Amino acid sequence: MSKFDVVVVGAGTGGTMAAREAARRGLKVLLIDRKPKEKIGDKVCGDAIGRHHFDNLGLSYPKGEELESVFEGIEIYSPDLETVFKVKGERLEGFGVNRHRFGQRLLREALDAGAELMDNTTVIEPIVMDRFVKGVVVRNDGEKTSIEADIVIDASGVAGVIRKRLPSDFGVEKEILQEDLIVAYREIRELKEPIETPVYAKIYLSQAIAPGGYYWIFPKKDGIIVNVGLGVQSGPNAPNPKKQIYEYVLNQEIFEGSKIVHGGGGAVPTRRPLDCLVANGVMFVGDAAFQVNPVHGGGIGPSMIAGKIAGETAVKALEKEDFSREGLWSYNVKFMQEYGAKQASLDIFRWFLQKLGDEELNWGMKHKLVTEQDILKANLGEDLRLNITERAIRFFRGIRRLSFLQKLREVANIMKRVKQLYQSYPGPEDFEMWRKEIHDIFSNFKKNT
Ligand SMILES: Cc1cc2nc3c(=O)[nH]c(=O)nc-3n(C[C@H](O)[C@H](O)[C@H](O)COP(=O)(O)OP(=O)(O)OC[C@H]3O[C@@H](n4cnc5c(N)ncnc54)[C@H](O)[C@@H]3O)c2cc1C
Repeated sequence: MSKFDVVVVGAGTGGTMAAREAARRGLKVLLIDRKPKEKIGDKVCGDAIGRHHFDNLGLSYPKGEELESVFEGIEIYSPDLETVFKVKGERLEGFGVNRHRFGQRLLREALDAGAELMDNTTVIEPIVMDRFVKGVVVRNDGEKTSIEADIVIDASGVAGVIRKRLPSDFGVEKEILQEDLIVAYREIRELKEPIETPVYAKIYLSQAIAPGGYYWIFPKKDGIIVNVGLGVQSGPNAPNPKKQIYEYVLNQEIFEGSKIVHGGGGAVPTRRPLDCLVANGVMFVGDAAFQVNPVHGGGIGPSMIAGKIAGETAVKALEKEDFSREGLWSYNVKFMQEYGAKQASLDIFRWFLQKLGDEELNWGMKHKLVTEQDILKANLGEDLRLNITERAIRFFRGIRRLSFLQKLREVANIMKRVKQLYQSYPGPEDFEMWRKEIHDIFSNFKKNT
Protein backbone atom coordinates (compact mmCIF):
# COMPACT_ATOMS: atom_id res chain seq x y z
CA MET A 1 0.00 0.00 0.00
CA SER A 2 1.28 3.48 -0.83
CA LYS A 3 2.29 5.93 1.84
CA PHE A 4 -0.20 8.48 3.19
CA ASP A 5 0.36 12.01 4.41
CA VAL A 6 -2.03 11.37 7.30
CA VAL A 7 -3.56 8.23 8.74
CA VAL A 8 -6.50 8.89 11.05
CA VAL A 9 -7.30 6.06 13.46
CA GLY A 10 -11.02 6.02 14.25
CA ALA A 11 -13.89 7.50 12.23
CA GLY A 12 -15.85 8.97 15.17
CA THR A 13 -16.71 12.65 15.45
CA GLY A 14 -13.07 13.68 16.06
CA GLY A 15 -11.50 11.46 13.40
CA THR A 16 -13.91 12.30 10.59
CA MET A 17 -13.44 16.01 11.29
CA ALA A 18 -9.63 15.68 11.21
CA ALA A 19 -9.79 13.66 7.98
CA ARG A 20 -12.21 16.13 6.37
CA GLU A 21 -10.05 19.13 7.25
CA ALA A 22 -6.76 17.57 6.06
CA ALA A 23 -8.29 16.11 2.88
CA ARG A 24 -10.09 19.27 1.81
CA ARG A 25 -6.72 21.05 1.98
CA GLY A 26 -5.23 18.54 -0.43
CA LEU A 27 -3.53 15.98 1.81
CA LYS A 28 -3.60 12.25 1.07
CA VAL A 29 -5.61 10.95 4.00
CA LEU A 30 -6.58 7.45 5.10
CA LEU A 31 -9.33 7.02 7.69
CA ILE A 32 -9.39 3.62 9.40
CA ASP A 33 -12.19 2.16 11.52
CA ARG A 34 -12.84 -1.26 12.91
CA LYS A 35 -16.55 -0.95 12.16
CA PRO A 36 -18.11 -1.66 8.78
CA LYS A 37 -18.75 1.55 6.85
CA GLU A 38 -22.52 1.49 7.37
CA LYS A 39 -22.13 1.18 11.17
CA ILE A 40 -19.79 4.13 11.59
CA GLY A 41 -21.25 6.79 13.89
CA ASP A 42 -23.50 4.34 15.72
CA LYS A 43 -22.39 5.03 19.28
CA VAL A 44 -24.02 4.84 22.71
CA CYS A 45 -24.37 8.52 23.62
CA GLY A 46 -26.72 11.15 25.05
CA ASP A 47 -26.92 12.49 21.45
CA ALA A 48 -26.99 16.16 22.53
CA ILE A 49 -24.82 18.81 20.84
CA GLY A 50 -24.71 22.59 21.25
CA ARG A 51 -25.74 24.63 18.23
CA HIS A 52 -22.67 26.87 18.58
CA HIS A 53 -20.40 23.96 17.63
CA PHE A 54 -22.03 23.83 14.21
CA ASP A 55 -21.62 27.61 13.81
CA ASN A 56 -17.96 27.57 14.88
CA LEU A 57 -17.01 24.64 12.70
CA GLY A 58 -18.93 25.71 9.63
CA LEU A 59 -21.10 22.59 9.71
CA SER A 60 -24.68 22.81 8.54
CA TYR A 61 -27.32 22.17 11.21
CA PRO A 62 -28.76 18.67 11.43
CA LYS A 63 -31.98 18.29 9.51
CA GLY A 64 -34.38 15.61 8.27
CA GLU A 65 -33.91 12.25 9.96
CA GLU A 66 -30.62 13.34 11.50
CA LEU A 67 -32.46 15.87 13.69
CA GLU A 68 -34.57 14.44 16.52
CA SER A 69 -35.06 17.45 18.81
CA VAL A 70 -34.17 21.08 19.34
CA PHE A 71 -33.23 22.25 22.85
CA GLU A 72 -33.70 25.76 24.20
CA GLY A 73 -31.64 25.01 27.29
CA ILE A 74 -31.00 22.67 30.20
CA GLU A 75 -33.03 21.96 33.33
CA ILE A 76 -30.85 20.98 36.29
CA TYR A 77 -32.71 19.28 39.17
CA SER A 78 -31.47 19.29 42.76
CA PRO A 79 -31.27 15.87 44.49
CA ASP A 80 -34.51 16.49 46.40
CA LEU A 81 -36.12 17.65 43.10
CA GLU A 82 -37.27 20.83 44.87
CA THR A 83 -35.15 23.23 42.88
CA VAL A 84 -34.90 23.33 39.11
CA PHE A 85 -32.41 25.59 37.41
CA LYS A 86 -33.57 26.43 33.92
CA VAL A 87 -30.37 27.45 32.23
CA LYS A 88 -31.07 29.16 28.95
CA GLY A 89 -28.95 31.13 26.59
CA GLU A 90 -27.73 31.12 23.06
CA ARG A 91 -24.78 28.87 23.90
CA LEU A 92 -27.05 26.30 25.51
CA GLU A 93 -29.34 25.89 22.57
CA GLY A 94 -28.71 22.60 20.91
CA PHE A 95 -29.86 19.56 19.06
CA GLY A 96 -30.72 15.99 19.88
CA VAL A 97 -29.41 14.06 16.91
CA ASN A 98 -29.80 10.62 15.53
CA ARG A 99 -26.21 9.73 16.39
CA HIS A 100 -25.82 7.14 13.66
CA ARG A 101 -27.07 9.43 10.90
CA PHE A 102 -25.01 12.32 12.23
CA GLY A 103 -21.89 10.11 12.20
CA GLN A 104 -22.69 8.95 8.66
CA ARG A 105 -22.98 12.58 7.55
CA LEU A 106 -19.57 13.45 9.04
CA LEU A 107 -18.08 10.38 7.34
CA ARG A 108 -19.61 11.39 4.00
CA GLU A 109 -18.17 14.89 4.33
CA ALA A 110 -14.69 13.46 4.99
CA LEU A 111 -14.94 11.12 2.00
CA ASP A 112 -16.35 13.85 -0.25
CA ALA A 113 -13.36 16.00 0.72
CA GLY A 114 -11.12 13.23 -0.65
CA ALA A 115 -10.22 11.04 2.35
CA GLU A 116 -10.05 7.28 1.74
CA LEU A 117 -11.76 4.86 4.12
CA MET A 118 -10.51 1.48 5.28
CA ASP A 119 -13.38 -0.03 7.27
CA ASN A 120 -13.62 -3.40 9.07
CA THR A 121 -9.98 -2.82 9.98
CA THR A 122 -8.55 -2.80 13.49
CA VAL A 123 -5.46 -0.75 14.23
CA ILE A 124 -3.20 -2.78 16.48
CA GLU A 125 -0.23 -0.55 17.19
CA PRO A 126 1.89 2.33 15.88
CA ILE A 127 4.98 1.74 13.75
CA VAL A 128 7.79 3.43 15.66
CA MET A 129 11.18 4.10 14.07
CA ASP A 130 13.97 6.46 15.15
CA ARG A 131 11.71 7.79 17.93
CA PHE A 132 9.00 8.80 15.45
CA VAL A 133 5.60 7.32 14.73
CA LYS A 134 5.77 6.39 11.04
CA GLY A 135 2.47 4.63 10.49
CA VAL A 136 0.25 1.91 11.92
CA VAL A 137 -0.07 -1.85 11.93
CA VAL A 138 -3.59 -3.05 11.14
CA ARG A 139 -5.49 -6.28 11.05
CA ASN A 140 -8.01 -6.81 8.29
CA ASP A 141 -9.64 -10.16 7.50
CA GLY A 142 -7.21 -11.86 9.88
CA GLU A 143 -4.21 -10.44 8.03
CA LYS A 144 -1.68 -8.01 9.48
CA THR A 145 -0.49 -5.12 7.29
CA SER A 146 1.69 -2.05 7.84
CA ILE A 147 0.56 1.34 6.58
CA GLU A 148 3.06 4.20 6.42
CA ALA A 149 2.22 7.84 7.07
CA ASP A 150 4.02 11.08 7.86
CA ILE A 151 1.48 11.81 10.59
CA VAL A 152 -0.82 9.53 12.54
CA ILE A 153 -3.85 11.01 14.30
CA ASP A 154 -5.14 8.86 17.15
CA ALA A 155 -8.90 9.47 17.25
CA SER A 156 -9.78 6.00 18.48
CA GLY A 157 -11.97 7.22 21.35
CA VAL A 158 -11.59 5.85 24.88
CA ALA A 159 -9.62 2.92 23.39
CA GLY A 160 -6.68 5.31 22.75
CA VAL A 161 -5.02 2.53 20.80
CA ILE A 162 -1.95 4.47 19.63
CA ARG A 163 -1.54 6.50 22.82
CA LYS A 164 -1.47 3.38 24.98
CA ARG A 165 1.07 1.60 22.81
CA LEU A 166 3.70 4.30 22.46
CA PRO A 167 7.09 3.66 24.02
CA SER A 168 7.35 5.39 27.40
CA ASP A 169 10.17 7.69 26.26
CA PHE A 170 7.55 9.54 24.15
CA GLY A 171 6.44 11.05 27.47
CA VAL A 172 2.71 10.69 26.72
CA GLU A 173 0.34 9.73 29.56
CA LYS A 174 -1.00 6.27 28.77
CA GLU A 175 -3.68 5.44 31.29
CA ILE A 176 -6.49 7.45 32.77
CA LEU A 177 -7.14 7.21 36.50
CA GLN A 178 -10.43 5.48 37.34
CA GLU A 179 -11.52 8.52 39.33
CA ASP A 180 -11.33 10.57 36.10
CA LEU A 181 -13.65 8.27 34.20
CA ILE A 182 -17.45 8.11 34.16
CA VAL A 183 -19.13 4.81 33.33
CA ALA A 184 -22.63 5.16 31.97
CA TYR A 185 -25.63 3.21 30.76
CA ARG A 186 -28.35 4.66 28.59
CA GLU A 187 -31.53 3.62 26.85
CA ILE A 188 -33.58 5.10 24.07
CA ARG A 189 -37.19 4.65 25.20
CA GLU A 190 -40.56 5.25 23.68
CA LEU A 191 -42.96 6.68 26.28
CA LYS A 192 -46.70 6.31 26.44
CA GLU A 193 -47.22 10.04 26.94
CA PRO A 194 -44.92 12.83 25.77
CA ILE A 195 -42.57 14.22 28.41
CA GLU A 196 -43.23 17.73 29.78
CA THR A 197 -41.12 20.63 28.47
CA PRO A 198 -39.41 18.61 25.72
CA VAL A 199 -37.40 21.68 24.70
CA TYR A 200 -35.17 21.22 27.77
CA ALA A 201 -32.47 18.59 28.21
CA LYS A 202 -32.93 17.40 31.79
CA ILE A 203 -30.07 16.69 34.19
CA TYR A 204 -30.68 15.24 37.67
CA LEU A 205 -28.03 15.56 40.35
CA SER A 206 -28.04 12.94 43.07
CA GLN A 207 -25.05 11.46 44.85
CA ALA A 208 -27.31 8.76 46.25
CA ILE A 209 -28.50 7.57 42.84
CA ALA A 210 -25.61 8.53 40.56
CA PRO A 211 -22.53 9.02 42.77
CA GLY A 212 -20.00 11.33 41.12
CA GLY A 213 -22.18 11.68 38.04
CA TYR A 214 -25.81 12.37 37.21
CA TYR A 215 -28.77 10.91 35.40
CA TRP A 216 -30.39 12.53 32.42
CA ILE A 217 -33.50 12.53 30.29
CA PHE A 218 -32.95 14.11 26.88
CA PRO A 219 -36.21 14.33 24.92
CA LYS A 220 -36.16 13.23 21.30
CA LYS A 221 -38.88 13.04 18.64
CA ASP A 222 -41.90 15.01 19.92
CA GLY A 223 -41.01 14.20 23.53
CA ILE A 224 -42.39 10.67 23.03
CA ILE A 225 -38.94 9.19 22.48
CA VAL A 226 -36.31 9.98 25.13
CA ASN A 227 -32.65 9.27 25.68
CA VAL A 228 -32.39 8.35 29.36
CA GLY A 229 -29.08 7.52 30.97
CA LEU A 230 -27.08 7.42 34.17
CA GLY A 231 -23.35 7.86 34.73
CA VAL A 232 -21.26 7.26 37.86
CA GLN A 233 -17.67 8.03 38.73
CA SER A 234 -15.64 4.89 38.11
CA GLY A 235 -13.82 3.20 41.00
CA PRO A 236 -13.69 0.03 43.09
CA ASN A 237 -16.90 0.91 44.98
CA ALA A 238 -18.82 2.40 42.08
CA PRO A 239 -22.33 1.00 41.63
CA ASN A 240 -23.40 -0.51 38.33
CA PRO A 241 -25.08 2.29 36.32
CA LYS A 242 -27.56 -0.10 34.68
CA LYS A 243 -28.64 -1.43 38.06
CA GLN A 244 -29.02 2.13 39.39
CA ILE A 245 -31.11 3.33 36.46
CA TYR A 246 -33.47 0.36 36.75
CA GLU A 247 -33.76 0.74 40.50
CA TYR A 248 -34.24 4.51 40.71
CA VAL A 249 -35.09 6.06 37.35
CA LEU A 250 -36.93 3.71 35.03
CA ASN A 251 -39.47 2.92 37.75
CA GLN A 252 -40.63 6.56 37.75
CA GLU A 253 -44.13 7.25 36.58
CA ILE A 254 -43.21 8.69 33.19
CA PHE A 255 -41.62 5.38 32.17
CA GLU A 256 -44.66 3.29 33.01
CA GLY A 257 -45.58 1.21 29.96
CA SER A 258 -42.60 2.57 27.98
CA LYS A 259 -40.68 0.43 25.47
CA ILE A 260 -36.93 0.07 24.99
CA VAL A 261 -35.73 1.04 21.53
CA HIS A 262 -32.05 0.52 22.35
CA GLY A 263 -29.86 0.03 25.43
CA GLY A 264 -26.09 0.13 25.93
CA GLY A 265 -23.18 1.32 28.04
CA GLY A 266 -20.00 3.33 27.57
CA ALA A 267 -17.25 5.28 29.30
CA VAL A 268 -16.37 8.98 29.20
CA PRO A 269 -13.09 10.59 30.29
CA THR A 270 -13.95 13.60 32.46
CA ARG A 271 -10.65 15.24 33.32
CA ARG A 272 -8.44 17.96 31.88
CA PRO A 273 -7.07 17.25 28.39
CA LEU A 274 -3.84 15.31 27.94
CA ASP A 275 -1.07 17.66 29.07
CA CYS A 276 0.55 17.40 25.65
CA LEU A 277 -1.51 16.47 22.59
CA VAL A 278 1.41 15.71 20.27
CA ALA A 279 4.58 13.63 20.01
CA ASN A 280 6.93 12.91 17.10
CA GLY A 281 4.71 11.98 14.13
CA VAL A 282 1.49 11.76 16.11
CA MET A 283 -1.45 13.85 17.41
CA PHE A 284 -4.27 12.82 19.75
CA VAL A 285 -7.87 13.89 19.23
CA GLY A 286 -11.19 13.51 21.06
CA ASP A 287 -11.70 10.95 23.83
CA ALA A 288 -8.25 9.54 23.03
CA ALA A 289 -6.91 12.92 24.26
CA PHE A 290 -9.49 13.24 27.08
CA GLN A 291 -11.07 16.27 25.37
CA VAL A 292 -14.48 16.21 27.06
CA ASN A 293 -16.33 18.77 29.18
CA PRO A 294 -15.60 17.35 32.67
CA VAL A 295 -18.80 18.68 34.21
CA HIS A 296 -21.45 17.44 31.77
CA GLY A 297 -19.44 14.87 29.80
CA GLY A 298 -20.16 16.40 26.38
CA GLY A 299 -17.35 15.36 24.06
CA ILE A 300 -18.80 15.56 20.55
CA GLY A 301 -18.16 19.31 20.19
CA PRO A 302 -14.62 19.36 21.61
CA SER A 303 -13.61 16.28 19.60
CA MET A 304 -14.70 18.08 16.42
CA ILE A 305 -12.88 21.29 17.43
CA ALA A 306 -9.75 19.24 18.07
CA GLY A 307 -10.13 17.27 14.82
CA LYS A 308 -10.33 20.49 12.83
CA ILE A 309 -7.25 22.01 14.48
CA ALA A 310 -5.30 18.75 14.13
CA GLY A 311 -6.21 18.60 10.41
CA GLU A 312 -5.03 22.19 9.90
CA THR A 313 -1.84 21.49 11.83
CA ALA A 314 -1.10 18.47 9.64
CA VAL A 315 -1.29 20.69 6.55
CA LYS A 316 1.25 23.13 8.00
CA ALA A 317 3.55 20.33 9.14
CA LEU A 318 3.50 18.86 5.61
CA GLU A 319 4.35 22.27 4.11
CA LYS A 320 7.39 22.53 6.40
CA GLU A 321 8.09 18.79 6.26
CA ASP A 322 8.46 18.88 10.00
CA PHE A 323 6.54 16.09 11.74
CA SER A 324 8.38 16.36 15.02
CA ARG A 325 6.73 17.17 18.34
CA GLU A 326 7.90 20.76 17.85
CA GLY A 327 6.53 20.87 14.30
CA LEU A 328 3.09 19.80 15.56
CA TRP A 329 3.18 21.93 18.73
CA SER A 330 0.79 24.61 17.47
CA TYR A 331 -2.08 22.10 17.83
CA ASN A 332 -1.46 22.16 21.60
CA VAL A 333 -1.50 25.94 21.79
CA LYS A 334 -4.60 26.38 19.63
CA PHE A 335 -6.67 23.67 21.29
CA MET A 336 -5.82 24.85 24.79
CA GLN A 337 -6.79 28.41 23.89
CA GLU A 338 -9.96 27.44 22.12
CA TYR A 339 -11.24 24.79 24.54
CA GLY A 340 -8.63 23.21 26.83
CA ALA A 341 -8.33 26.20 29.20
CA LYS A 342 -12.05 26.15 29.95
CA GLN A 343 -12.01 22.37 30.15
CA ALA A 344 -9.13 22.23 32.64
CA SER A 345 -10.72 24.85 34.89
CA LEU A 346 -14.01 22.92 34.81
CA ASP A 347 -12.08 19.82 35.87
CA ILE A 348 -11.42 21.54 39.20
CA PHE A 349 -15.14 22.28 39.54
CA ARG A 350 -16.01 18.69 38.56
CA TRP A 351 -13.86 17.28 41.34
CA PHE A 352 -15.42 19.66 43.84
CA LEU A 353 -18.97 18.72 42.73
CA GLN A 354 -18.14 15.03 42.98
CA LYS A 355 -17.24 15.49 46.64
CA LEU A 356 -20.46 17.31 47.58
CA GLY A 357 -23.22 15.66 49.57
CA ASP A 358 -26.85 15.84 48.50
CA GLU A 359 -27.67 18.09 51.47
CA GLU A 360 -25.12 20.66 50.33
CA LEU A 361 -26.33 20.47 46.75
CA ASN A 362 -29.96 20.90 47.80
CA TRP A 363 -29.18 23.91 49.95
CA GLY A 364 -26.71 25.46 47.53
CA MET A 365 -29.20 25.28 44.65
CA LYS A 366 -32.21 26.36 46.69
CA HIS A 367 -30.42 29.45 47.95
CA LYS A 368 -28.54 30.08 44.73
CA LEU A 369 -24.99 29.96 46.00
CA VAL A 370 -24.28 29.77 42.31
CA THR A 371 -27.03 31.13 40.07
CA GLU A 372 -28.32 29.92 36.71
CA GLN A 373 -26.58 32.83 35.05
CA ASP A 374 -23.29 31.94 36.77
CA ILE A 375 -23.58 28.36 35.55
CA LEU A 376 -24.19 29.61 32.06
CA LYS A 377 -21.16 31.89 32.26
CA ALA A 378 -18.92 29.21 33.76
CA ASN A 379 -19.97 26.95 30.89
CA LEU A 380 -18.91 29.67 28.47
CA GLY A 381 -15.49 29.74 30.07
CA GLU A 382 -15.94 32.82 32.25
CA ASP A 383 -14.74 32.81 35.85
CA LEU A 384 -17.03 31.20 38.42
CA ARG A 385 -18.89 33.81 40.48
CA LEU A 386 -20.15 33.04 43.95
CA ASN A 387 -23.05 34.40 45.93
CA ILE A 388 -21.96 33.72 49.52
CA THR A 389 -24.36 35.55 51.86
CA GLU A 390 -24.63 35.76 55.66
CA ARG A 391 -27.44 33.24 55.44
CA ALA A 392 -25.19 30.75 53.66
CA ILE A 393 -22.55 31.20 56.32
CA ARG A 394 -25.13 30.51 59.06
CA PHE A 395 -26.44 27.39 57.29
CA PHE A 396 -23.05 25.84 56.70
CA ARG A 397 -21.95 26.71 60.24
CA GLY A 398 -25.14 24.95 61.41
CA ILE A 399 -24.32 21.72 59.58
CA ARG A 400 -20.65 22.05 60.67
CA ARG A 401 -19.48 22.50 57.10
CA LEU A 402 -18.25 26.09 57.15
CA SER A 403 -15.15 24.74 55.46
CA PHE A 404 -17.40 24.10 52.45
CA LEU A 405 -17.76 27.82 51.79
CA GLN A 406 -14.05 28.41 52.19
CA LYS A 407 -13.47 25.57 49.79
CA LEU A 408 -15.92 27.05 47.30
CA ARG A 409 -13.97 30.32 47.33
CA GLU A 410 -10.74 28.42 46.88
CA VAL A 411 -12.27 26.47 43.99
CA ALA A 412 -13.16 29.67 42.15
CA ASN A 413 -9.59 30.97 42.60
CA ILE A 414 -7.93 27.74 41.48
CA MET A 415 -10.20 27.55 38.45
CA LYS A 416 -9.07 31.02 37.47
CA ARG A 417 -5.39 30.17 37.92
CA VAL A 418 -5.70 26.94 35.92
CA LYS A 419 -7.44 28.74 33.09
CA GLN A 420 -4.67 31.34 32.93
CA LEU A 421 -2.00 28.63 32.82
CA TYR A 422 -3.67 26.87 29.91
CA GLN A 423 -4.34 30.11 28.07
CA SER A 424 -0.62 30.79 28.15
CA TYR A 425 0.33 27.26 27.14
CA PRO A 426 4.14 27.10 26.92
CA GLY A 427 6.50 26.37 24.05
CA PRO A 428 8.18 22.93 23.96
CA GLU A 429 11.21 24.23 25.90
CA ASP A 430 9.17 25.33 28.94
CA PHE A 431 6.70 22.48 28.85
CA GLU A 432 8.14 20.36 31.69
CA MET A 433 8.06 23.32 34.06
CA TRP A 434 4.47 24.09 33.07
CA ARG A 435 3.46 20.46 33.44
CA LYS A 436 4.95 20.30 36.92
CA GLU A 437 2.98 23.35 38.01
CA ILE A 438 -0.26 21.89 36.62
CA HIS A 439 0.35 18.52 38.26
CA ASP A 440 1.10 20.18 41.60
CA ILE A 441 -2.09 22.24 41.44
CA PHE A 442 -4.29 19.27 40.58
CA SER A 443 -2.73 16.80 42.98
CA ASN A 444 -2.80 19.29 45.90
CA PHE A 445 -6.38 20.21 45.14
CA LYS A 446 -7.49 16.57 44.93
CA LYS A 447 -5.61 15.69 48.10
CA ASN A 448 -7.24 18.53 50.03
CA THR A 449 -10.80 18.17 48.77
C1 LIG B 1 -23.23 7.14 27.55
C2 LIG B 1 -22.57 8.31 26.91
C3 LIG B 1 -23.29 9.49 26.72
C4 LIG B 1 -22.70 10.60 26.10
N1 LIG B 1 -23.47 11.69 25.85
C5 LIG B 1 -22.95 12.73 25.17
C6 LIG B 1 -23.77 13.82 24.76
O1 LIG B 1 -24.99 13.84 24.95
N2 LIG B 1 -23.18 14.85 24.11
C7 LIG B 1 -21.85 14.86 23.84
O2 LIG B 1 -21.37 15.84 23.26
N3 LIG B 1 -21.05 13.84 24.19
C8 LIG B 1 -21.57 12.76 24.83
N4 LIG B 1 -20.77 11.68 25.14
C9 LIG B 1 -19.33 11.73 24.81
C10 LIG B 1 -19.10 11.56 23.32
O3 LIG B 1 -19.82 10.44 22.85
C11 LIG B 1 -17.61 11.38 23.01
O4 LIG B 1 -16.87 12.33 23.75
C12 LIG B 1 -17.32 11.57 21.52
O5 LIG B 1 -18.03 10.61 20.77
C13 LIG B 1 -15.82 11.42 21.26
O6 LIG B 1 -15.58 11.29 19.90
P1 LIG B 1 -14.27 10.55 19.39
O7 LIG B 1 -14.23 10.78 17.91
O8 LIG B 1 -13.11 10.93 20.19
O9 LIG B 1 -14.51 9.00 19.70
P2 LIG B 1 -15.63 8.01 19.18
O10 LIG B 1 -16.81 8.73 18.67
O11 LIG B 1 -15.81 7.01 20.25
O12 LIG B 1 -14.96 7.31 17.92
C14 LIG B 1 -13.87 6.41 18.00
C15 LIG B 1 -13.85 5.56 16.74
O13 LIG B 1 -12.64 4.79 16.77
C16 LIG B 1 -12.92 3.49 16.34
N5 LIG B 1 -11.88 2.61 16.91
C17 LIG B 1 -11.60 2.40 18.21
N6 LIG B 1 -10.54 1.58 18.35
C18 LIG B 1 -10.14 1.27 17.10
C19 LIG B 1 -9.08 0.45 16.58
N7 LIG B 1 -8.26 -0.21 17.37
N8 LIG B 1 -8.97 0.35 15.24
C20 LIG B 1 -9.83 1.01 14.41
N9 LIG B 1 -10.84 1.79 14.84
C21 LIG B 1 -10.98 1.94 16.17
C22 LIG B 1 -14.32 3.20 16.87
O14 LIG B 1 -14.96 2.18 16.13
C23 LIG B 1 -15.00 4.56 16.68
O15 LIG B 1 -15.64 4.68 15.43
C24 LIG B 1 -21.34 10.56 25.73
C25 LIG B 1 -20.60 9.38 25.93
C26 LIG B 1 -21.21 8.27 26.50
C27 LIG B 1 -20.41 7.00 26.67
